[in-house]
Amino acid sequence: MVTTVAPKVYKNYIDGDWVEPRGGTAIENRNPADTGDLAGMFPASSEEDVALAVDAAAEAYKTWRLVPAPKRAEILFRAAELLVRRKEEFARDMTREMGKVLAEARGDVQEAIDMTYYMAGEGRRQFGKTTPSELPNKAAMCVRQPLGVCGLITPWNFPMAIPSWKTMPALIMGNTVVIKPAQETPLSVYNMLEALNEAGVPRGVVNLISGAGSTCGTAMLKNPGVKAVSFTGSTEVGIVVSQACAPLLRPCHLELGGKNIILVMDDANLDLAVDGCIWGGFGTSGQRCTAASRVGVHKKIYREFLDRFTARAKALKVGNGLDPETEMGPVISRKQLETVISYVEIGKNEGAKLAAGGHRLEGGAYAKGWFHEPTVFADVDPGMRIAQEEIFGPVVSVIPVADLAQAVEVANSVNYGLSSAIYTRNVNAAFSAMRDLHTGIVYVNAPTIGAETHLPFGGTKQTGNGHRESGDAALDFYSEWKTIYVDYSDRLQRAQIDTGSFGTTE
Ligand code: NAD
Repeated sequence: MVTTVAPKVYKNYIDGDWVEPRGGTAIENRNPADTGDLAGMFPASSEEDVALAVDAAAEAYKTWRLVPAPKRAEILFRAAELLVRRKEEFARDMTREMGKVLAEARGDVQEAIDMTYYMAGEGRRQFGKTTPSELPNKAAMCVRQPLGVCGLITPWNFPMAIPSWKTMPALIMGNTVVIKPAQETPLSVYNMLEALNEAGVPRGVVNLISGAGSTCGTAMLKNPGVKAVSFTGSTEVGIVVSQACAPLLRPCHLELGGKNIILVMDDANLDLAVDGCIWGGFGTSGQRCTAASRVGVHKKIYREFLDRFTARAKALKVGNGLDPETEMGPVISRKQLETVISYVEIGKNEGAKLAAGGHRLEGGAYAKGWFHEPTVFADVDPGMRIAQEEIFGPVVSVIPVADLAQAVEVANSVNYGLSSAIYTRNVNAAFSAMRDLHTGIVYVNAPTIGAETHLPFGGTKQTGNGHRESGDAALDFYSEWKTIYVDYSDRLQRAQIDTGSFGTTE
């Protein structure tokens, strides 16, 4: 690849300094809408770099855990203010490295802002519990304690939002952090760290290691100094993470793939449902873990829905996300594009009807990017691979369903369980679906995407391992309960055996 301007060279952030990787090699960060545009060179860090970062975080933990949480919160609050100030700049950087349209990149930065403010608020909450003891002159309480060094491994599709979902709750609870961003999108994490650094996070509390999963990610998983791992990415790598943590009995938080569905019932507001399916299916070029890659449509309105949906999909303006006219950007990489293309072939071979798109976009404005047409398959059987496997691109399978019962059965027939949605004006149908859809998130009359930072986020089945990000639910992963008994009776009291003069047993 030929580049005329010398690219900016980025470093790792270890123990409060920006440092060169020990190996000295670098990874290119190229714009997926225009691969001639080099956003920067980022370290291809080694196991040694990871070890330095973990050691720095372990040392910093000794003092950071003792900083009063409201003081930690003040730093996060300042970081949020800095993110607000630099939102536009950071959003443009994100579109350049990841490809999502600028409005969505602004939303991604905004999500990091919201999360940072939210977790700053937790500095003055983190409530524990006090409860009466069963014995006299004895106090009983429990408090949250940090875990130590948290290793964070993040994907490319939400380059700043997802790193913030992990970093901010970890910090407010008194943990220190080593973060390894996806090698496709390190710049947004660099930007987030700049804000934290400028806000006054002490040395070693947050460390950034850039590089490949196979080297840096593996090194982080092997390092016994890492006391907890939070990973968002593919189910395949999530299993590797889980297996690496198991022998160390180390807490591990997994947020993995999805195969989400929107159900459109025969009484739905069809205009609203089509809007929602377009946004849910093709927002972020379908590269959201919550993307609506399946739509289950009641047979009575199937034809009408399909006609309107395919017309809208065909009309979407695909292009560079920095162009304000663009409605859908590229996919992240050649590899991802090849995956999309291969699934289009799979769908055709399985007998699904290609109703819109189906091709790579090439030439002209698309010549140097990884663009694919918004693609709709119709008359999809719920058992087909295109309706079961995560494609992670702009491909939506439309599945006819006979009634609500079958719609829910189809929805639950996949191995994933992140997000689902139903469009209906029937309150009974809505509440039945809310109860029966086996996903971590359910939307009524809204698409499968659009989570807010103060509520739990995560999925069932192979989407995760039961933990949740966001809101106060995130605190449960980044802390553990310490139960404290204070006996001020001045004598030995035995729980369950002595109940003192208040007892009824001998
Ligand atoms: P990925 O699994 O390829 O990579 C995720 C991260 O893991 C990257 O930082 C990568 O470098 C690292 N990694 C790769 N191999 C590793 C290894 N052997 N050991 C340690 N780390 C390793 O995923 P991706 O392509 O970056 O992201 C797309 C996937 O993420 C999709 O499956 C999507 O559904 C999922 N995702 C899930 C959520 C959620 O909240 N459930 C959110 C966003 C994305």
